[in-house]
Amino acid sequence: NRNAPSLDAFWMPFTANRQFKAAPRMLVAAEGMHYTADDGRRVLDGTAGLWCVNAGHGRRSIADAAAHQLASLDFAPTFQMGHPIAFDFAERLAAMAPGGPEAGLDRVFLTNSGSESVDTALKIALAYQRAIGQGTRTRLIGRERGYHGVGFGGISVGGIVSNRRAFPTLPGIDHLRHTHDPARNAFAKGQPEHGAELAEDLERLVALHGAETIAACIVEPVAGSTGVLIPPRGYLERLREICTRHGILLIFDEVITGFGRLGAPFATDFFGVVPDLVTTAKGITNGTVPMGAVFAKRAVHDALMQGPEGIELFHGYTYSGHPLACAAGLATLDIYAKEGLLTRGAELAEDWAGAMHDLRGRAHVSDIRTIGLVAGIELTPRPDAPGKRAYEVFTDCFRRGLLIRVTGDIIALSPPLIVEREQIREMAEIVGAAIDRVG
Ligand code: PMP
Repeated sequence: NRNAPSLDAFWMPFTANRQFKAAPRMLVAAEGMHYTADDGRRVLDGTAGLWCVNAGHGRRSIADAAAHQLASLDFAPTFQMGHPIAFDFAERLAAMAPGGPEAGLDRVFLTNSGSESVDTALKIALAYQRAIGQGTRTRLIGRERGYHGVGFGGISVGGIVSNRRAFPTLPGIDHLRHTHDPARNAFAKGQPEHGAELAEDLERLVALHGAETIAACIVEPVAGSTGVLIPPRGYLERLREICTRHGILLIFDEVITGFGRLGAPFATDFFGVVPDLVTTAKGITNGTVPMGAVFAKRAVHDALMQGPEGIELFHGYTYSGHPLACAAGLATLDIYAKEGLLTRGAELAEDWAGAMHDLRGRAHVSDIRTIGLVAGIELTPRPDAPGKRAYEVFTDCFRRGLLIRVTGDIIALSPPLIVEREQIREMAEIVGAAIDRVG
């Protein structure tokens, strides 16, 4: 059996996450809403893979499109050359850009991942400020508990302190405050009164550093990886106002929220707040082939092509707009359109919220947050072992046939957008049983 690798050495070829070593699990096949584990059990996918398999697993049309592309044009260099399918895909994306045609986010730059999209967006923002004579604006603002991938740009603007401590990060970065205080859980429950007030923290950073030093502010509209933190009403609107007032570009990191996760095509549409740049990845190819895209306003994007005076800017990846990923992406967007998946979350949101909120009142459950087809269930940590309780719930859910995600003592659920109501109830039941079982 070639399933679990040797664990004598701490060697994982794709992650530095120690939880795998603690209890190795292998997934060997997937179809529709289910994975197959290496012991043959079917496991309901409560996390859409990693927030990316929005149309469910094993979609034949994506596989066929990718296979056909691979056989006809497997690769083409992108620096001096182009290939039609990259333009086809970019144009398809531009036509469905976040915020609709009025938002004007219809320039697209193709990458291969969320981390690359973040780096690209930060570079575009800096290039734009320089191009409009605002070269002193080199500072970037992120947010505490923000997650923007693992590139140096992403960990620098990211709000995970341990990530920033482990490596040198970009200079000139600061972070918006994130008051995840259960007593005044501003992001958790969407308390309307705190939104605008919380966003005023950007004014604090403007006063501290001077607007003329700040290029851009990047936030996830809903922070996913760090525990499903939902902004209170008015928060994103006020951030937008403050950025506009001070000439700061606003970047929404929609790597998770993009492509229907909230029940609208993008969080930009869901909240009705238009940033200057949007980063995406994950659902763009239904998780099948690595791909990402940055959407930008025309003038902002085009600065990247100009470069500063006397310097020809170089940016682009060997695999930007890879033919295989573009083919998978086009087939994915066809499915989303044909099956109405980008708004299906809105139809299911009430059932989803109902099923998840039914878990309220169980021992250890301190907060439940839902938005679209996403849920965060927060458990009270064991004083002696933070994170352990949620991890045990994760383990027990897996044993019972459900894949969930945990971060600290927060459980995150976010199924493929094809999920049926019956499966929503099944997920809540399994999570409930697992929570009851942990001490
Ligand atoms: N930004 C956000 C908001 C994310 O959630 C993630 C991944 N979870 C990333 C960026 C990084 O994406 P990737 O892992 O594809 O580099």
